This record gives sequence, C-alpha cells and structure tokens, in this order.
Amino acid sequence: MKVLVTGGAGYIGSHVVRALGEKGYDVLTYDNLSAGHRQAVLSGRLVTADLADKNAVGKVFSDFRPDAVMHFAASIEVGESVREPLKYYRNNTANTLNLLEAMAESKTDIFIFSSTAAVYGVPDAVPIKEDAPIRPINPYGRSKACIEHMLEDTSTATGLRYVSLRYFNAAGADPEARIGEAHEPETHLIPLVLKAAKGELPGIKIFGTDYPTPDGTCIRDYVHVDDLSDAHLLSLRHLLEGGRSEVFNCGYGHGYSVREVVDAARNATGIDFKVEDSARRPGDPAVLVASSDKIRQRLGWTPRHDDLAYIIKTAWNWERKGGFKR
Ligand code: UDP
Repeated sequence: MKVLVTGGAGYIGSHVVRALGEKGYDVLTYDNLSAGHRQAVLSGRLVTADLADKNAVGKVFSDFRPDAVMHFAASIEVGESVREPLKYYRNNTANTLNLLEAMAESKTDIFIFSSTAAVYGVPDAVPIKEDAPIRPINPYGRSKACIEHMLEDTSTATGLRYVSLRYFNAAGADPEARIGEAHEPETHLIPLVLKAAKGELPGIKIFGTDYPTPDGTCIRDYVHVDDLSDAHLLSLRHLLEGGRSEVFNCGYGHGYSVREVVDAARNATGIDFKVEDSARRPGDPAVLVASSDKIRQRLGWTPRHDDLAYIIKTAWNWERKGGFKR
C-alpha cells in the first residue's frame, strides 16, 4: 500500500512517516523543506518539491501512484497568518487545491487532512464536539476551514473519501528522540519552556493570568504526537476498508493550564527556570479541550500517552539532544 505524505519532513508528519514505515507501508514524503528537515524522514523516499508547482505534483502522482494521500504540509503560525494572510491562503488553501486536483486527475480518492482546533475559534462550550460551529478567528484557522469546505464539497461530488483530523495541542517526541518538534521560530509552550530549562532562553512568559480558569492561565488539551500518529493510521485503515468521510477531534478530552505545564516541566527537568507573568496573547481562547468520544467510538482510538509527565519527558529528551543538525 503506497502513501504519499506531504509535509512528511515536519513535526507531526515525520512521526506518521516513521509509523507508516514500521507498519510496512510504502511511503513517499513530498516536502519543500521550508520548515521541515531532511533528517526527519525516517522511512521511504523524499521528494523535495513545492505543492505550488503543479507539474511536480502531477509527476509524483504519475510516478509513485499512491493509494492514499496524507496532507500535513502547511504554514502553522497564527501570528504570522495575521500579518501575512495571503501566505496562508496560498500555502494552505491554494496548495491543497492543487493537491486535490492532482488526486482527481490520477483517480486517487483517499485523503487524510491535518486540520486544527483553530477552526472552532472561541468555543461556546467545552469539551468541543465536532458539530460545534466553525468560526475561526484568524487567517490560519480560516485557511484550514476553507479546506474542510473544499473536502466536503468534493467528496459530495466525486468519489473522494477523506478524514479530517482536528488536532488540539500536539506535543512530545519520538521515545528514542530521533525526531521531535523543531520549529523556526518556536512559538509553542512546551518547547519554549524546555528551552528555558536548558538555558537556551532566559525564561518563559505566561501570556495572561486573569483568564476565567482555576489558576487564571489558559487551558489546552496537549496530545502526544504518537497518539496523533495512531489516529492517522486508524483513519487510513478506515478509508482503505471503504469507510465514509469523517471529521474527528484529536485530543484527550481534558487539559492543563500554562502554570501546570510549567510546574510539570520543572519536575521533569529538576531545573527551576525563570517564569514571568505577562499580558494576554491576542486571540487565545481561555480553554480549548476536545471531546474525543467520536474518534474513540468510530475508530477505536485509544491514546497510549495521556500523561503530561511522559509528554514532557519525551520532549525534554529531544530538546537535550539539540534537535536536527543542519
Ligand atoms: N503560552 C505562554 N507562553 C509562551 C507560549 C505560549 O503562556 O511563551 C501559552 C499560550 O498563550 C497558550 C498556551 O500557552 O495559552 C499554548 O500555546 P501554544 O502556542 O503552545 O499553542 P496554541 O494553543 O496557541 O495552539
């Protein structure tokens, strides 16, 4: 079974490529390496090309003839999306259109999409269910919501079947620390906290301490990247067995506050780094927690790493190793 993985050299994509290889799938990673790392691709071939290049996209379909496509490649920084929205509509929305057109031309009809909790915006209720309104509050979330609409319309009109996985807060790393999170610039809480523990950063700022949560800091549903990876493999099996299109949240159904993450990192590392209370970051909802009943029931997803200490331990081992050598 052949799987084309766009963005397979990135953080979540590389963990899925590794897992697909371990399960015996023939994997081809398609990545422009703008944010990904060549060394992150632990299984199969890497084609270094851009999804904006329609000829290169068409060629990979005619050469490789994939049975299914997993689409991770995307720009992912909310702040940047506010400053440069067209970059997000180009890299995320328009490039996905290229990919879906190439799939239609080559009659490839199984697609797994990396969506995001950002499509919900500020939720009316938590845990958030998949049928909650789609009301993204930034161009990043909107660029992904547009894709969900494209998928829905295309699957109604054609034989395309897809699973859209709305990730909550991906975190952690490969247990052997071969791959992990390596964004440039890094904006995510857990890697930043660990860089502070390592002494690479002077400390960490807590963005907002007056939220309506027990300790006043934001609560997020941190999910280990290998559990996300399992969700992809189950989604693939579902579609290969003839299952219908679905949208699933990927989170554990409970969350941790920023202060709890900071405390867990102090415990895991044994290092007391500097923490400063700071102003809210614009656009941050107080609580984002997934209802994950649907994916548990429909696909039998059973998270293996619902444990903040394990998430931070694997991220810390990766961080101490110093990331990918350029
Ligand atoms: N956060 C923080 N300090 C930082 C980075 C993040 O307090 O240096 C907070 C952020 O405001 C949010 C939570 O940590 O409430 C998780 O942020 P992250 O950027 O990791 O993920 P997001 O929830 O934005 O996808």
